[in-house]
Amino acid sequence: MTAAIYTARANLNPLLIDAPADTERQTTPGGQLMITTDVENYPGFAKGIEGPDLMMEFRKQAERFGTEFLEEWINEVELQERPFTLHTDNKIVKAETLIIASGASAKWLGIPGEAKTPNGFGGNGVSACATCDGPLPAFRNKRLVVVGGGDTAMEEATFLTRYASRVYVVHRRDKLRASKIMQDKAFRNEKIEFLWNTQPLEIVGTHEQGVTGIRLKSAESGEERTFECEGVFIAIGHKPNTDLFKGQIEMDSVGYIRTNGHSTATNIPGVFACGDVQDSVYRQAVTAAGTGCMSAIDAERFLDHLPVEMPSGEEVTMDGEHITPDHQLIITATGEVFPNDPHPE
Ligand code: NDP
Repeated sequence: MTAAIYTARANLNPLLIDAPADTERQTTPGGQLMITTDVENYPGFAKGIEGPDLMMEFRKQAERFGTEFLEEWINEVELQERPFTLHTDNKIVKAETLIIASGASAKWLGIPGEAKTPNGFGGNGVSACATCDGPLPAFRNKRLVVVGGGDTAMEEATFLTRYASRVYVVHRRDKLRASKIMQDKAFRNEKIEFLWNTQPLEIVGTHEQGVTGIRLKSAESGEERTFECEGVFIAIGHKPNTDLFKGQIEMDSVGYIRTNGHSTATNIPGVFACGDVQDSVYRQAVTAAGTGCMSAIDAERFLDHLPVEMPSGEEVTMDGEHITPDHQLIITATGEVFPNDPHPE
């Protein structure tokens, strides 16, 4: 949304394509902020703001400068040639530059009780974001469970000790995956207790009270029990939403898009990435907005500095002319072909 605000204000005519609402695929137009309640750490809102209200303000600001919106699934992208081609359910979209801001989705365990209300306790005691939901009154001075053994789990457990009476980290093995520094911090925290070799089976509760416990199974003895708690935070990692771009854009081993140093440039000239889709470390609304702004400025500068070389070896000029990889031919935007003779008779 920030990239749209900046590119629209720069008269670059952005089209913002967002996934439609889909409960099965867990998508909400507007992204993760749309499923967040109080946002207390976005600068400029001293009293805090609801996630959906913040997104609505972003959207109105992007609209004010002329952003067009399209809510459709993109099924295929062609990024080897400019303009880039995006195939949606009903349209073929051509773009001079592409800014990927498809975000990341929290991974879920897939156990009973985890789904969003009314089908489970999601939003009623179950969360995948401690920073978003931990400070809510429902979790204050309560027994909270964090599931996971990586850096996210350590970070969330440590953060939750500010509010909870006690935090229990449920991990399926007897060793953490988290970095040593994060482990040490969690081990030193007297409010955190570890339940090792333990796998969650089900989250239990009532619709009036929310979560009242979690069914656990010992990986060693196979014994099952109900552990009493009032909140469950799933922290088993995030999955960047990059399936659509696999094989076309450089990613790290987890699937986060690689960007170039201090810029938002990907390995494909003219394609930029911002927000959680390229950030496994900070993952905050304000950092996503910050890199969104960077990507818009990068895209604007890119358009100002054409021609550029594409991965296929051909060059593309500002007017949409293509120069073949062997530099022998120029193909105009209308398809006419000329020899590339720098010194005509
Ligand atoms: P990780 O993949 O590192 O850890 C996921 C954890 O969840 C693992 O301990 C894993 O168990 C457990 N897990 C996964 N699936 C299940 C399941 N189905 N049932 C039970 N447990 C499960 O993800 P993180 O989000 O923690 O970290 C991702 C990346 O982001 C890392 O590179 C991390 O360093 C980085 N990060 C950095 C932070 C920082 O520097 N401040 C903060 C947060 C993340 P097992 O170990 O058995 O596989």
